[in-house]
Amino acid sequence: TPFETLGLDKPLLNAISDLGFKTPSEVQEKAIPVLLSDETDLVALAQTGTGKTAAFGFPLIQKLQADSRTTQGLILSPTRELCLQITNEMQQYAKYIKGLNIVAIYGGASITEQAKQVRRGAQIVVATPGRMKDMIQRGIVDISKIDYCILDEADEMLNMGFYEDIKDILSNTPKEKSTWLFSATMPKEVATIAKKFMHQPVEITV
Ligand code: AMP
Repeated sequence: TPFETLGLDKPLLNAISDLGFKTPSEVQEKAIPVLLSDETDLVALAQTGTGKTAAFGFPLIQKLQADSRTTQGLILSPTRELCLQITNEMQQYAKYIKGLNIVAIYGGASITEQAKQVRRGAQIVVATPGRMKDMIQRGIVDISKIDYCILDEADEMLNMGFYEDIKDILSNTPKEKSTWLFSATMPKEVATIAKKFMHQPVEITV
């Protein structure tokens, strides 16, 4: 299947072509049409390296309002490295969409600099849970109006002890949003998160 059949618009298709992606990976083929057509929660069992960043990144970029500065999408990821990697990928995907700002928020770096970037207006925030919680408490980031929340490598985040932080962060988000959870494995703790914070998620496995 070519990317053209998944429902993606021209700016994304052009970026995909620049990146040299020829055909969608399995998780992309399964997730993208669902996420583009329905406002639904999603649980995807997928390892790293399967192309999962684009599986949630393309629909997220296409669905949000680039002409509004409000933070509309939050991506939580376990480590600073992953956070930066996702941000970098997303920025390449969004290269033909004017005014779309994607900002990384992670621990061990200047909070002032990150705050400055957020204040310029970030439609998408990619964050590690600890720093995210800190920025919310300080009133730097407002996630009360997000439409999309992505939990990436959920099993890893829980392994690292981020359950309470995630719970706190989610309690600052609106009830009526879509949550997309990606995890390599489905231990009890991940199933609990899905059950507690998600509504009849579509499930896909690759
Ligand atoms: P991820 O699983 O999201 O970390 O992606 C793994 C790597 O595959 C990244 O370097 C992506 O840029 C690349 N990638 C993602 N989707 C595709 C695709 N459809 N075709 C070729 N490469 C891809």
